[in-house]
Amino acid sequence: MSEYDLVIIGAGPAGLTAGLYAQRAGMKVIMLEKLQPGGLLFWTETIENFPGFPEGVSGRELAERFRAQAVQAGLTIVTQEVKQIVWVQPTEALKWYSVKTQEREYNIHCVILASGAHPKRINVPREEMLTGKGVSYCATCDGPLFRDQDIVVVGGGNAACEEALYLAKFARKVSLIHRRDRLRADQLLQQRLKANPKINILWNTVVLEILGAEKVTGVKIEDVATAKRSELSCAGVFIFAGFKPNTDFVKGLVNLDIQGFITTDANLQTSRPGIFACGDCRLRALAQIVTACGEGAQAAQAARQYVDQLTGRTYA
Ligand SMILES: Cc1cc2nc3c(=O)[nH]c(=O)nc-3n(C[C@H](O)[C@H](O)[C@H](O)COP(=O)(O)OP(=O)(O)OC[C@H]3O[C@@H](n4cnc5c(N)ncnc54)[C@H](O)[C@@H]3O)c2cc1C
Repeated sequence: MSEYDLVIIGAGPAGLTAGLYAQRAGMKVIMLEKLQPGGLLFWTETIENFPGFPEGVSGRELAERFRAQAVQAGLTIVTQEVKQIVWVQPTEALKWYSVKTQEREYNIHCVILASGAHPKRINVPREEMLTGKGVSYCATCDGPLFRDQDIVVVGGGNAACEEALYLAKFARKVSLIHRRDRLRADQLLQQRLKANPKINILWNTVVLEILGAEKVTGVKIEDVATAKRSELSCAGVFIFAGFKPNTDFVKGLVNLDIQGFITTDANLQTSRPGIFACGDCRLRALAQIVTACGEGAQAAQAARQYVDQLTGRTYA
């Protein structure tokens, strides 16, 4: 009773690449995206590490190129948010996934989850407004844009320390702001951090506010031990409070790790046959556009093999 071979949930780099590959393989595909195509790319000013763009490319331009190529291959993108997925099997032979949105229900053989993740905010004034204008959640992406400038890093875990070390390669000075009197990061990282002359750790300190109108000019901070407030000027604020995967709608359907990331096997299959996951919603080591695209292609290939086997059909 399936109307489509495959539904892809999320039109970020992972989903759009999966869509391109599945469509070119001749599958009957529908993509459901709750916002606009592009995913996190849409909110990223400049991308300098995606191969093929030596001059860099704006996130929105790259998003549009991904979308256009997938649509040119025949992909249909529908603006709807997936709320729930249910397994339906009325008889031994008849089985499908029912994918439910606010507007309607789709019956599908196979699902690719490409719903991404979003950086956790620290929820201080002007954080949202200045994102992409000095506030960043990705050192690999934006670090080189702050060459010889002063920047602030917020956090105290491994990610914050690793990224502070990376950012110190570009910045004039890195102030690591941490709310406690000790870091949660590995000892080795802590030693390297303390030995770096460009890095200054502000202990027992929290960011109260990000300063700036058009772009970041500084932060207002508070020493939590003394309640003393001050301002620190900087051009960039890098926040590493972790990422939250967009996976609430599949809780209880597929296995997730403790933070909600989808776990898969090497073939990108989740704990449920016929449901694959790729990109930032999946538990993986490097969350970048290039890895999301690679996994999108791999998930499409795995989905195609699954549907071939299920239907006994082969594509062109
Ligand atoms: C500020 C910032 C800058 C970055 N810069 C770079 C960079 O320079 N280079 C680089 O390689 N990487 C960069 N990254 C990382 C990169 O953006 C991500 O790794 C990449 O976008 C992941 O792609 P994805 O398709 O897995 O997820 P996403 O891009 O997050 O896309 C997921 C899509 O799924 C949709 N969705 C979610 N839930 C549902 C649902 N229930 N129903 C329908 N749709 C849904 C979302 O709306 C979204 O469009 C940056 C990240 C951030 C936050």
